[in-house]
Amino acid sequence: MYFNETHDAFRASIKKFVDKEINPHMSEWEQTTAPLHDLFKKMGDLGFLGIRYDPKYGGGGLDYWFETVMLEEIGHIKGMGVSTAIAVQTNMATPAIAASGSEYLKETYLKPAIAGDMVCAIAVTEPDAGSDVRAMKSRAVKKDGYYLLNGSKTFITNGVQADFLTLLARTDEGEGYHSFGLFVVPTNLKGFQVSKKLDKIGLWSSDTAELYFDDVKVPLENLIGDDREGFIIQMKQFQHERFAVLPGTCSAIQDMIALTVDYLRQRIVFGKPLITKQVLRHRLADWITRNEALRQLTYHIVRLKMENLDATREVSMGKLLAGQLISEVASGCLQMFGGVGFMNETLISRYFRDVRVMSIGGGADEVMLEIVSRIEGF
Ligand SMILES: Cc1cc2nc3c(=O)[nH]c(=O)nc-3n(C[C@H](O)[C@H](O)[C@H](O)COP(=O)(O)OP(=O)(O)OC[C@H]3O[C@@H](n4cnc5c(N)ncnc54)[C@H](O)[C@@H]3O)c2cc1C
Repeated sequence: MYFNETHDAFRASIKKFVDKEINPHMSEWEQTTAPLHDLFKKMGDLGFLGIRYDPKYGGGGLDYWFETVMLEEIGHIKGMGVSTAIAVQTNMATPAIAASGSEYLKETYLKPAIAGDMVCAIAVTEPDAGSDVRAMKSRAVKKDGYYLLNGSKTFITNGVQADFLTLLARTDEGEGYHSFGLFVVPTNLKGFQVSKKLDKIGLWSSDTAELYFDDVKVPLENLIGDDREGFIIQMKQFQHERFAVLPGTCSAIQDMIALTVDYLRQRIVFGKPLITKQVLRHRLADWITRNEALRQLTYHIVRLKMENLDATREVSMGKLLAGQLISEVASGCLQMFGGVGFMNETLISRYFRDVRVMSIGGGADEVMLEIVSRIEGF
């Protein structure tokens, strides 16, 4: 109904890539983290990293439905670390460059990111500024020919491997929103340091870093847009980031349920396969029902985006629902596996670890509720 033969062919090519180039390596990458330069180059060669971007910079020039197909298919990766790393490249660190960057930034950074020649990261969060982005302390002071950047960032996905960061920093001490600039910061600049690779509960196949900036000279031309409007540009970029988790969440929930149904069919307890227990079947049917509702909300958002309408309310609702539902399903499926579900060798345990961050990263559930409340006028 939503997808035609061209979408189906595109879906098949991504599925083939995920089945051949990603899923067979997931267990290894859970130990080592995924080698993003190698993986992204292969994806860039196939046109998977710039689906909606302008063909002038190597993009596919396609629409949100094609992007949805891609995000749905990477949701079938066995575990959420690599899909997160990919979404950072396509939907979190590059939309602002495409929308508000200069020709120079598009040629120098967007183009290689689409080609998979450069790995990128989005650097907003700081030790004292997560949900409250405006509390950030990193400072970019305009000098003669450059911005002098000092400060630190934390929890930065792809931060260890990134060639450049799309980074928000304070350009003024003012209280309001108009005191920030969004910059493209190459990681080979003097004074930049990955201070720590962080040890996490989940997303082991993805690297997450603490970054430090000591008198880093960021060229003036690396500013995205106006140096007072970075906060506004980043808020728009957050909409791409939050939408990016929805299609893949629906796919991952579908996979977790399929995995669990297979197990319940063959696991005999009290003389019968577990799938015969009505309480378990109803729980599965309930999750499938709510996942369908999430999928339809996702497609509704795509329709709004296709009409260039503001989807902040629906994206915030979707992000909230996705985080809540995927955590409930991962935990509930693990419960149905019993003791074997608690073992690291069982895939459901990886999902259980990986999904927890969904209600925290990219705006916690409470922040989504705050946005919805505000839009609803209370
Ligand atoms: C694995 C991982 C990857 C990440 N990747 C990136 C990345 O690539 N780039 C990046 O910039 N950041 C990244 N983050 C950071 C992430 O976006 C932040 O963790 C998130 O925004 C929450 O900020 P915080 O951790 O500082 O929590 P805090 O702001 O300290 O909030 C703590 C908790 O308080 C509650 N809370 C917050 N605000 C409210 C409120 N208004 N009302 C009620 N309760 C509230 C929420 O439950 C929240 O979880 C990542 C985080 C993780 C864990």
